[in-house]
Amino acid sequence: MRKKIVAGNWKMNKLSDSAKALFEEICAHSQQFGNVTVMVAPPSLYLAAFAKSATSKVCIGAQDVSAHNDEGAYTGEFSAAMLKSTGGRYAIVGHSERRSYHGETDALIAKKIRACLDAEINPVYCCGESLQERESGKHVQVVQSQINEALSGFSADELKTLVIAYEPVWAIGTGKTATTEQAQEMHADIRQFVSSKFGADFAKEMRILYGGSCKPSNAKELFSQKDVDGGLIGGASLNADDFLAIIKAAQ
Ligand code: PGA
Repeated sequence: MRKKIVAGNWKMNKLSDSAKALFEEICAHSQQFGNVTVMVAPPSLYLAAFAKSATSKVCIGAQDVSAHNDEGAYTGEFSAAMLKSTGGRYAIVGHSERRSYHGETDALIAKKIRACLDAEINPVYCCGESLQERESGKHVQVVQSQINEALSGFSADELKTLVIAYEPVWAIGTGKTATTEQAQEMHADIRQFVSSKFGADFAKEMRILYGGSCKPSNAKELFSQKDVDGGLIGGASLNADDFLAIIKAAQ
């Protein structure tokens, strides 16, 4: 049985006080999280303070991390080792907003995954196709080639803590969710593809999250699909009631 994960990607939202209030409200309900792993990825400025005040039932993650693992002259960046030293457990890598606004490629993302694994941070690798790629029927091929490029340099043993987040770009922040059939179909395909690269045992254990306009009204149905192991939640993670309802839907 794969343990479900519900992760909140806050993106660049919330000033310090309201971020703290939201985080405290989530933590206050942590006794009700049951068997679900809950992760919150706030803006990185708040990471260390959150990690210090988190309950053992809430994990802290970064929305991105440097590809460099050595300390040095990398203005504006922080390393996976630094994240780990503040109490962070996860890092999202390859989010489509990093790909499109910062030109991140799967070659760079592979380095970020390596940096995470070296520092014992669990990477949450995001992949997903654009609307045009979906409409032209290339979605499976696009996602497979992203995964291939990002993960080919690793062994199954190295990737034990990897989580994949399938996030169709056309569903992110648009209110358009993939249908449960579209999500399940792609998740099953990802699992199959990963199985062909790293073996069936590895693929069976690996968590695949769905992301893209996931909300309380559709979470239960999405999470009930065989290959959907939880969600990476953007907009709906900014409101405690919505986020808590999504966590409940994963139980
Ligand atoms: P959304 O974002 O839930 O607002 O669509 C998801 C994500 O970008 O991780």
